[in-house]
Amino acid sequence: MPYCGGKKEPMKFLGTIVLTLLAMLPRPAVAEPTTIDHVTIVDVADGTRVPNQSINFDGDRINAIGPSPLRGPGRRVDGTGLFVLPGLWDMHVHSHRERRWTYHYPLLRAFGITGVRDAGTHLASALAFRARTKDDPLAPRVIWGSPIVDGAPQVNSFGLSTEDEPSARHLVRELHRQGFDFLKVYDRLSPGAYHGLTSEARRLGMPIEGHVPLALSPDLVIASGQRLIDHLTLIAEGCSPRTLSVVNRKNAEDPRESDSLSILMSNEVASAMMNFDIRTCKPLFDRLARKRVWQVPTFVQLETFVSPTAPPDWQARRDYVSPGLQADWEKSVKEADPVALANGRKILDIQLSMLKPMADAGVPILAGTDSSSEMWVFAGFSLHRELELFVEAGLSPLQAIQTATLNPRIYAGHDRGKPLIRPGERADLVLFAADPTADIGSLATIRGVVARGMYHDRASLDALLVDAKRRAKTAGK
Ligand SMILES: [Zn+2]
Repeated sequence: MPYCGGKKEPMKFLGTIVLTLLAMLPRPAVAEPTTIDHVTIVDVADGTRVPNQSINFDGDRINAIGPSPLRGPGRRVDGTGLFVLPGLWDMHVHSHRERRWTYHYPLLRAFGITGVRDAGTHLASALAFRARTKDDPLAPRVIWGSPIVDGAPQVNSFGLSTEDEPSARHLVRELHRQGFDFLKVYDRLSPGAYHGLTSEARRLGMPIEGHVPLALSPDLVIASGQRLIDHLTLIAEGCSPRTLSVVNRKNAEDPRESDSLSILMSNEVASAMMNFDIRTCKPLFDRLARKRVWQVPTFVQLETFVSPTAPPDWQARRDYVSPGLQADWEKSVKEADPVALANGRKILDIQLSMLKPMADAGVPILAGTDSSSEMWVFAGFSLHRELELFVEAGLSPLQAIQTATLNPRIYAGHDRGKPLIRPGERADLVLFAADPTADIGSLATIRGVVARGMYHDRASLDALLVDAKRRAKTAGK
């Protein structure tokens, strides 16, 4: 058929061009069976690497792993030269308030974060999102904290308040019935209300997590069975009975809704902390380790909060939050009290100095950022910064990576003896051009992310970053 044949050659040529151009376009991520070949699997338990492996996944789970190439249907991804680690977790966010989730979700995915612990939001918002995240292809896995439970006057507008033991018990029963994963406790709780909350939560088997209330002490919350402490509240101060009594007294005298940061950054507490001696913390660290009370330091939140000015690299990210938040941050920077900021910087330095001794004592540690409305804290970016701060504070890069991979899974009940990347496990994966367990700076080399049965290549992740900016523009605070 010469006629047809004569026509066919240019068509074939054009077809090749079209196919080549199509291949060059960013490919939107869709859930499909996929095999990643020739990749090095990093075991985050001990840093061992197994090179030239294939990982096949279909939907939420890893199907098969073996030396490359592995037979399997569906999409093939060439992982030559890449290192694969489990997806990261940010263990302290408030993503499910206002319209913040709209830009948090693409940012979390773009930075390899496949799971978060939501440390408290409005009751209605939490209930609505718990159902909704199941269907959103960009939603991370979420560990749901209850709305913040505080005393009176309460610090946050989105929390719940309880002042006595009977009402506290009633509140816990209600939040337990609503199915929250843990009860979030806060700064201004009275000893009586805290006792009511914790004894009722223990009876129901509901974990208690959050701040150390300012009227109490780390020892009392350890004894009450609290499973986790956010922001190292009262840990440094709790190493000295004298400093702790200053905090307790200031809290009792303060009739306003002051939070732990403003009280801990006050001149009275700062001067009591002048003689801080890390050696006095050893007994407390040993008790935290013995009872396995998880610590989520959120250094990145304090680092940004106490900085008098925002350096250029923070400013460069400002479009990744809503215009309303940007305006709030600018106002806060202008109105900040320089003396309180200097006091806060000293507390941050003390907290940083505690990290390695705590880890050495066996205190379990989790990485979290407080991504919410906190000044210059950005979903995604700030988790990588938190892990850098962990290394600056003395953890090895492997230990730092564990706080965002292995430890969150152990916290949630994973058997530490089993690898996180194996058949049957969750297909939540991040591919890096260089191994961050060897050099934490390599967190910046993400080349691909697997979540919800989808493989995002670098172009798809870059498109998510663009999308996050677009969504932030129209989001509320
Ligand atoms: Zn928080």
